This record gives sequence, structure tokens and C-alpha cells, in this order.
Amino acid sequence: MPPRPREKQPLPSLPTGPLEECDDVTTDKIPQTAYEPDDRKVEIVWRNVVVMGILHLVALYGLYLVFTSAMLITTLYGVILYNLGGFGITGGAHRLWAHRAYKAKWPLKLLLVLCQTLAHQNSVIEWARDHRVHHKFQETDADPHNAKRGFFFAHMGWLLCKKHQEVKDKGKGVDMSDLYAEPLLRLQHKYFYVLMPIGCFVLPSIIPVVFWGETLMNAYCLNILRYVSCLHGTWLVNSAAHMWGSKPYDKYISSVENVFVSFFAVGEGWHNYHHTFPWDYKAAEFGKVNWTLRIINLFAKIGWAYELKSVSKEMIKTRVHRTGDGSHEIWGWGDKDQSPEDYKLATIYNKKEE
Ligand SMILES: [Zn+2]
Ligand SMILES: [Zn+2]
Repeated sequence: MPPRPREKQPLPSLPTGPLEECDDVTTDKIPQTAYEPDDRKVEIVWRNVVVMGILHLVALYGLYLVFTSAMLITTLYGVILYNLGGFGITGGAHRLWAHRAYKAKWPLKLLLVLCQTLAHQNSVIEWARDHRVHHKFQETDADPHNAKRGFFFAHMGWLLCKKHQEVKDKGKGVDMSDLYAEPLLRLQHKYFYVLMPIGCFVLPSIIPVVFWGETLMNAYCLNILRYVSCLHGTWLVNSAAHMWGSKPYDKYISSVENVFVSFFAVGEGWHNYHHTFPWDYKAAEFGKVNWTLRIINLFAKIGWAYELKSVSKEMIKTRVHRTGDGSHEIWGWGDKDQSPEDYKLATIYNKKEE
């Protein structure tokens, strides 16, 4: 069937920030049909399908080896690498570079680039470009992993087919000059296909063999398992965290708050908040399951991370009242959202008379 011709109207950017009383909730005025994905014929990239297929088969065999012949220390090492790679994506490619939510000194930048190479989800520059397009044009045909096309497409299907023309066109229009201005990122981007095989596959597989006598087969297959698991952890943010959960900050967008995703994506499942306030280095209002936040805070203590941008309680409250779905939780006694009735009806033991 040929693609359905449809007149597309330019979509206004979705609002981020507090939304004061005088601001329009423009989202109300966008007809939902504007967000329907078009009927383009998906062109499968078979090379990617084969590579992904092989990686998943090896990862499955790696899982079998975990329970049969691999040393416990090799499994623990895999868990550590999973988290390091995850941090390279969440703390580096995502919060530091795609959103510029904080600044980092060069030792932290170097560490983040090494971790991001270990996770291999393309270079930081390429990752950040896709991600900026995702935020600017979420849920349209220009969104690289448009969740309106279903779970599988948003999760990994988008990497198995050719990019939509809209993604390419809008991607060219996104300003990436800030990242190209960083020599470290230019270097990683330029030599990615030398650095990535070494950093993601060769070195992580050799270390267990050299240092604790693991077999090469076990070390290699468990490393592939670690790599593929980390990919799925990140992909869950694009799929599950755009589908299942609450929307306390903006009910008009598909991204949601999902604790399960946060656990696997080292703290990136608070996605309704993140799409509403993308410059907040916490990527969440609360620090519950947010391993990335803890590590950035540790680096802030020694001065390697600084200018940590966040959002005031007042700003969040305004937005919650304007566009939230009513599920915003009260953090405790004294929360600004607590009603006067809550205060009046509360039982307070051992109260001191003042
Ligand atoms: Zn998203
Ligand atoms: Zn983001």
C-alpha cells in the first residue's frame, strides 16, 4: 500500500518549565491527529537485524554460562561494567552533554567518555543528536523512537530500520555546535570505530582472563550479556517509560514515571518529570531510585561536577497544578501540596504546647 498522503501541520514545541497562569497550554490546541504516525513503509536494515540477532543469541548463551561454568567474580564484574556503562550514558551522554544539565571538569569528562564507549550506543555526539531531536519533536514522525509506533519500535525496532526522513531533516536542524566545540567529543566521534571495539568488546573480555583466570569463552559471552542487558536498560526509557506509569507533571505527553525502568536504567525512569524539566540534572523531583544522581552528587563534593541545574519546588508546583494528572505525591509533612484539611485532621502525638 502506498504511504497515505496527509497534510502535516507544523507542530509547536511542547512547553517545558513552570507554565504560569497567563501561559497557554498549547498542547490542548494540537489536534491528536497531528500526532498519528504516517503510513510510511518501514525499510528494514538487514545488517542490523543480523548483528542484533547474533548479539542476543550470544547473550543468551552467556546467561546459561552464568549458571553453569562462569566464575562468580566474572558475573560480579559484569554487573559493575553494566553500571559503569549505564552511568556513561545517563550521567554523560544524557544529562551532561545532551541536556547540559550540569558542568564537569576534564577528569570527569574523560571518565564519562570512557564509560560511554564501554556502553557503545554510538558516539556521544550521535547519541545526543538523536536525543535532542527526541525531546524537541517527541511523539511525531521526527522522533527517532516515536512511542506512538508501539512498544517494539520505541524499544529497539527503530535501530533495525532506516530513519524516517523527518528524523533526518529535523536532526540536521538541531544545534550541536556546543558538543562539536569539545575536543574530547570530536576525538571520540572521529575514532569511534577504533575506540569502541577496544573499549566495549576487547578489553572487557580480556581482563577476566588475565586477572583471575576466567576462560575466554566465558569472559566473552558474559561481556556480550552485559552489553545487551545495558542496551535493554536504556531502551526501556524509550519504550516502557513512554507507556506505563503516572503523569504527575504533564498529562499531555506520553512519558511517565516508572520505578521499574529507573532500576534498570540507573535512575532514568522518572521520565514524565524529565520531559517536563529536561535541564534538571536530577532528571527526577525526588532522589528515590536514582543511582546516577548519587554519583553526580559525589563528584560535585570533590568539585568535578558543578553548576548543577535544578528546578524550584515553586516552579514544580505551578506546573503540577496546570498540567499534572493529579497523581503527584506529597513528600511529607509541610509539602506545599498538602491541603489545609490534611493539617487539621492529622494526629500529632507528644505535641509540645507553644
Ligand atoms: Zn523520552
Ligand atoms: Zn533527556
